Amino acid sequence: MGFLDNDIKFLKGVGSARAALLDSELEIRTFRDLLYYFPFRHIDRSRFYKIRELREDMPYVQIKGRFISFAIEGEGARKRLVGLFSDGEKLMQTVWFSKVNTLKDAYRPGVDYVIFGKPTFFRNDFSMSHPEVSKFDSNKPPTGWQGVYNVTDKFRRSGYSPKYLSGLVSNLLAQPGFNTIPETLPTEIVDAYHLLPLQEALRNLHFPADTALLQKARERMKFEELFYLQLHILRFARTVSRKIKGLIFGHIGDYFNKFYHECLPFELTGAQKRVLREIRGDMRTGRQMNRLLQGDVGSGKTMVAFMSMLMATDNNFQAALMAPTEILATQHFETLQPWGAKIGINVRLLTGSTRAKERREIHAGLTDGSVQMIVGTHALIEDNVQFKNLGLTVIDEQHRFGVAQRARMWAKNTTPPHVLVMTATPIPRTLAMTVYGDLDVSVIDELPPGRKPITTILRYDENRMEVNRLLGQELAAGRQVYVVYPLISENPKLELKSVETGYERICGIFPQYKVCCVHGRMSPDVKDAQMQKFISGEARILVATTVIEVGVNVPNASVMLIENAERFGLSQLHQLRGRVGRGADKSYCILMTKQNIGADTRKRLGIMTETTDGFLISEADMRLRGPGDMEGTQQSGLAFALNIANLATDGQILNYARQAALKVLNAHPELTESQANEIDLSEGKLPVSQTSINTLKHELRYRFMKKVDWSQIS
Ligand code: ADP
Ligand code: MG
Repeated sequence: MGFLDNDIKFLKGVGSARAALLDSELEIRTFRDLLYYFPFRHIDRSRFYKIRELREDMPYVQIKGRFISFAIEGEGARKRLVGLFSDGEKLMQTVWFSKVNTLKDAYRPGVDYVIFGKPTFFRNDFSMSHPEVSKFDSNKPPTGWQGVYNVTDKFRRSGYSPKYLSGLVSNLLAQPGFNTIPETLPTEIVDAYHLLPLQEALRNLHFPADTALLQKARERMKFEELFYLQLHILRFARTVSRKIKGLIFGHIGDYFNKFYHECLPFELTGAQKRVLREIRGDMRTGRQMNRLLQGDVGSGKTMVAFMSMLMATDNNFQAALMAPTEILATQHFETLQPWGAKIGINVRLLTGSTRAKERREIHAGLTDGSVQMIVGTHALIEDNVQFKNLGLTVIDEQHRFGVAQRARMWAKNTTPPHVLVMTATPIPRTLAMTVYGDLDVSVIDELPPGRKPITTILRYDENRMEVNRLLGQELAAGRQVYVVYPLISENPKLELKSVETGYERICGIFPQYKVCCVHGRMSPDVKDAQMQKFISGEARILVATTVIEVGVNVPNASVMLIENAERFGLSQLHQLRGRVGRGADKSYCILMTKQNIGADTRKRLGIMTETTDGFLISEADMRLRGPGDMEGTQQSGLAFALNIANLATDGQILNYARQAALKVLNAHPELTESQANEIDLSEGKLPVSQTSINTLKHELRYRFMKKVDWSQIS
């Protein structure tokens, strides 16, 4: 039991009742919890600023001076009290929108006050809204920088403010015990990366001595957080790669060569070739491949999957391709089956709706090895599906699958098959390093040639006639159209368009065409039947929610119309847009919004009209929404796991933290709890003392015992 493990109720200013509140509202139970409850911003009470020193991006500052005059301006809701404030050199405005009449007489001219608030710049002048005002007291010097803490409403209503927390931290820092708390990073790393020691970092994070030290303190704590996360992930990754022997696909054989030389329907892109070489490289090493293949919609992942599967067949292993929905599985089957037939490979399809007789036949074929390739849904995971010798599992659109389901595919062979996970949701590198820390990543960053770019336009409700004309034109030319809505049914509380009313409307406007409809509240059977109508071309217009976003391929569709586009994340819009532009024709993506969208929304949607690069879009999306909301990462618990670091902005720190973790693991393979000695030397080594090893082990245990099980994420 160290000082940090003390129950918070023993801290001066707390006691049992408040301890209960701190626990239930802020999850602060120990001294350590309080110290690691970081301020989300800081205010400068270190000195008095002059009005001429104010800058636009300043945080809260205090200014000493006098009120010259007060005036009430505006009417009704715009009614406000404007005070003219002078620091002896210059004037600025202070503005209040409430309590106008009482405040008017509260402050007297000729008396020295200190106003405190965030300066805003408007029409070439600085002003301050709702400043905190106190009488200047020459006996009370400026106190310094202070942290501002997030607290819950209930915490506030119970009579405690963020200031109360600040006071508690101050009490804690004043205790002699604080000076005994141990460093949480190996001192070798603190030195090598020029980090602030822990105690100094914590002091400055709560009560910064100045802005430079605050910056250093934040960096140190972010580094610590990311370092342990990486150490944990990489420790597991190495354990995997060493403990689990992989199947060796020693040679490229007849199937691959015949297909490559005689049957390829098109020239592979450079990126497809590169990725195939990377996969080939993995499969002959003798360690199990765990590779993530990222490739934008339409980049040709299916061909890469098929040719990787051929590497398995060439070595007398079976291969499986798993997709999240029946439709996608069927589409994959329809692509792969003819390719396989040309070179004499038996490809079968297994889904939930495969008939019993055929199912039995397929099961038997998988067991005796006569079915060489299988395409399917979750049905493949079921225990009664046994393989003779499964060598490779390809998983498409991986984020629809749970981690546990993926793991079950491993168990289909005594030596686990190689795993290739494919996703069309590009995620920024920093996120990939964290969410898929133990997967190797391949990227197809090139589209097949000859694609006509998709024209993306932003239109408002008042442009509806024009938009309908465009739809009519495309339909008349024999094309198909998607119309996507944010809701299934209208909700009186939300001013959003819905599939249900949209369907009626579209049927009314285009009575001559068959319209079908898909949304998440339909049973899978109904959904599939509706979808099938669109795929076959029988229905020309598909009205849907985002359930269609992943993978569906209808080359004849040339328009993607998205209603209330402002409601969708950029990555999601990008996915939807990827449904068109799959045939040779010119395609359109129309983002519809109401007329009065804010500048931010306009800018965000502007990114969609400017670029079709999925990686640029996902970077922007993460910057704007934060990593916790990104497609494909929700299941990782990432949003909860990070306390201070931000993957959208701390890429540089993450790189250093990962490098440090690799160096330590290289120097101390014993940390991976494995005897094997295959070590990645590319980052070099950083040997640390036995004391530091103990620190590492202690922190890993402390940090990852109860939280997200990162080892399950891949
Ligand atoms: P995704 O990566 O989105 O799964 P697909 O594999 O479905 O993309 O490929 C999209 C389309 O591009 C398919 O019609 C496919 O046949 C075609 N395609 C794939 N690779 C090439 C290539 N190298 N040259 C031309 N067309 C290609
Ligand atoms: Mg695909």
